[in-house]
Amino acid sequence: MKSFDKERYRGCLLGLAVGDAMGAPVEMNEPGMFEPLSGMVGGGYFKLLPGEWTDDTALALCSAASLSEKGIFDPKDHLVKFLRWWREGYMSTRSEAFGIGMVTAGALMRFESTGEDFCGPTGEKTASNGSLMHIATVPLAYAHNPCEAIHLAAEASRLTHGAKEAIDACRYLTSLIVGAIRGYHKSQLLVSHFDYDALDVWQEDALTARIAHIADGTFKDGPPAISWKNYTDAAVALHAALWGFYSTDTFKDGLLSVVNLGWDADTMGTVYGQLAGAYYGEGGIPAEWSGVISKSDTIISFADALHALAQKERPAKKRVG
Ligand SMILES: [Mg+2]
Repeated sequence: MKSFDKERYRGCLLGLAVGDAMGAPVEMNEPGMFEPLSGMVGGGYFKLLPGEWTDDTALALCSAASLSEKGIFDPKDHLVKFLRWWREGYMSTRSEAFGIGMVTAGALMRFESTGEDFCGPTGEKTASNGSLMHIATVPLAYAHNPCEAIHLAAEASRLTHGAKEAIDACRYLTSLIVGAIRGYHKSQLLVSHFDYDALDVWQEDALTARIAHIADGTFKDGPPAISWKNYTDAAVALHAALWGFYSTDTFKDGLLSVVNLGWDADTMGTVYGQLAGAYYGEGGIPAEWSGVISKSDTIISFADALHALAQKERPAKKRVG
């Protein structure tokens, strides 16, 4: 079977954390309300150190810990670890968790009281970006089997975000991250409804309208229109990330374009960073940014563990049913 490039695994998880740490200082600010970012400054609502990241990366590391310890996607263990983060600060940069989103908090409270595996609400208005922001661990662990990766990305979203639009944003980003890990060129990744030959995943389970429009290439026309009504939507974060990836040629230029959109800048940066980090690799991320990231040794260890896991698994085969 094909051996995947460890550089891309490290780039994906480090890129996620860099995007989070870069955008968090301007989170909740509209463009024009802040000096455009050109580097890693820290500060913001959480008074972050330069390179310190938030809930997005903490939850990604909880997921990476679960996948690498269990060797498979284990829904309950994911939720146990997410809850440990929220209640005890597990995988946080601080002694406590900070920055939890409302939909994630609701799902974790439900898990705490019921022990159910899939606690994400399914209403259309709950299709926020809280599962998309850390979905990268699934395509990294299952890059050897694109169909399974896309299926499990949906399951991973349902832990906290069960709305179909949030699930589909995770499925589509997962497809692109697997493609980047497998060495597809940007021009191949950004075709309409990127798919793998003969897998037909988007025919078997069609994307919801908003995600389908993005998959069709609407991000090539410009960044999303963001307002108080939609700034936490998974669709907005996916659109912004793909626009930044499409319209620039380096990790750096794309990330600066995305975080300077403001609003939910950390999560849009995180979504961009997962894909662009997998595509450009660890070496494509400016060293002055990756070099100050909190717990970077832990992030790299998890990237290597997920890389080892993907090498161990069976070769890709078409999913049945
Ligand atoms: Mg955050």
